[in-house]
Amino acid sequence: MNIPFVDLKVQYNSIKESIDGAIHEVLNATSFVGGTYVQAFEASFAAALGVKHCIGVGNGTDAIYITLKMLGIGVGDEVITPATSWISTSETISQTGATPVFVDIDPITYTVDVHKLQEKISSRTKAILAVHLYGHAAEIRTIGKIAVSNNLFLVEDCAQAHFTEDAGQHVGTFGIASTFSFYPGKNLGAYGDAGAVVTNNDALAEKIRLYANHGGRIKHQHVMEGVNSRLDSLQAAILSVKLPYLTKWTSQRIANAAHYTRLLTDVEQITLPTVRSSTVHTFHLYVIRTKKRDQLKEYLQEKGVQTGIHYPCALPNLPAYSYLNHQPAEFPIASAYQNDILSLPMYPELTIEQIEYIVSAIKKFFGH
Ligand SMILES: *Cc1c(COP(=O)(O)O)cnc(C)c1O
Repeated sequence: MNIPFVDLKVQYNSIKESIDGAIHEVLNATSFVGGTYVQAFEASFAAALGVKHCIGVGNGTDAIYITLKMLGIGVGDEVITPATSWISTSETISQTGATPVFVDIDPITYTVDVHKLQEKISSRTKAILAVHLYGHAAEIRTIGKIAVSNNLFLVEDCAQAHFTEDAGQHVGTFGIASTFSFYPGKNLGAYGDAGAVVTNNDALAEKIRLYANHGGRIKHQHVMEGVNSRLDSLQAAILSVKLPYLTKWTSQRIANAAHYTRLLTDVEQITLPTVRSSTVHTFHLYVIRTKKRDQLKEYLQEKGVQTGIHYPCALPNLPAYSYLNHQPAEFPIASAYQNDILSLPMYPELTIEQIEYIVSAIKKFFGH
């Protein structure tokens, strides 16, 4: 059996007619940037999350950069963010001119360790950029309280967490603004790069909309300089077709995770993901931990099972941040886990037979 880490083809085939129809509609309308397709998706995504504004942008990285920039964050400022994430969360802080301040992750949840947050706050701190890693809600209510009591902006990076919930509330609705990626492999994926910012703040929404479009709503009327980072109509039309399926696809991910967990619980050599109480973990990734990570990865590869590592190097340990002079020991959990974590195949259409095959290979590897 050959099992890819993510299978985008099987999902496309399941909605091929509507996708092809939507693409042709955009082509026939020759409406490629902006316009009704973008507006329609922005409105339906905002409604799905229960927020006032959704601003489509070029990708999830730009969504973070533009948000931080429009919050006025820049040179001399610090933004606090977890040590374990995709580089977008820290490189965007640097892009504004500010400095990323890393916090270690919680050993159980893999999201930012809220007990280590306060000590990282300085007189220069302007914001906390929380990340709902792997589809698991960070302790966003506690983080929100810390942000409020220290007068900091809270921004949520929801690139891996579409429809993730904390006590009945969607993540992406707790801070001043939140960012989403619709990269093809994300839980809601376009067929190219795409992203969005959501917010309930009217003034911030307007600034973000302007900045993402060369600083002007109307052509040649630039009220400021900006960037070119727009959601294009083809991607918007594709996302509008896919959005109504997201609840179903999310349930399928959750069911797949439950199958893995049920079948793997007696393998004492691996640690399985946990779900913090009162949260909905949307399992963008199903991440296990084992001291034999590299050997297991190679063994699974030989058995036709493709896996991933998210991420093989914690952010402060990357060469890109050598200028910050961090030692791995400052982030003991993130630094240890980078060698132990392994992401198993995860997508809504993964079948029980595929999961059973993967599990039996893992059990064979550990001599079960
Ligand atoms: C994917 C991702 C991003 C960036 O999204 P792009 O659309 O690829 O730019 C940001 N943060 C996290 C945590 C991500 O997983």
